[in-house]
Amino acid sequence: MGHGEYANCTKCGRRFRTEVAEGFYLTKDGIIKPYGHPQPLNKLAERRGLYGFTALGICSKCGKFVEAIISQFPKSIKTRKQSEKLGVSKPANMEDICFAFHPKTKSICPECHKETEIITWGIKDYPCPDCGGQLVRDGDWCS
Ligand SMILES: [Zn+2]
Ligand SMILES: [Zn+2]
Repeated sequence: MGHGEYANCTKCGRRFRTEVAEGFYLTKDGIIKPYGHPQPLNKLAERRGLYGFTALGICSKCGKFVEAIISQFPKSIKTRKQSEKLGVSKPANMEDICFAFHPKTKSICPECHKETEIITWGIKDYPCPDCGGQLVRDGDWCS
């Protein structure tokens, strides 16, 4: 899994696992699979290369909590040299990379199937999808 942290709703108390971004690759059939970080998870991931990033966030069209592609490279990245050029191999830069590539990708929401902006934790804060209360990160990280 990618790099993320937990946030709690100050009103209803629900805890959310949030994710800044997770690298993915596409299989020959076009299925999204986690790429692994900082190393490819397996041989197939390594062979296919890093295609881009997915993230958990709120769809700005339907308001649902979804996981969607937020950025995608024009071509998958297969070598360390290619990835270093983009800064992908540096974990601290994950968010920056997403910012850099975010505007280039039109996200399609898996729930409403519309072209949308997926509002992620790394980009801006948003209210609790259940009650509208304020969410506060509690400082626990997950990987
Ligand atoms: Zn809430
Ligand atoms: Zn949607």
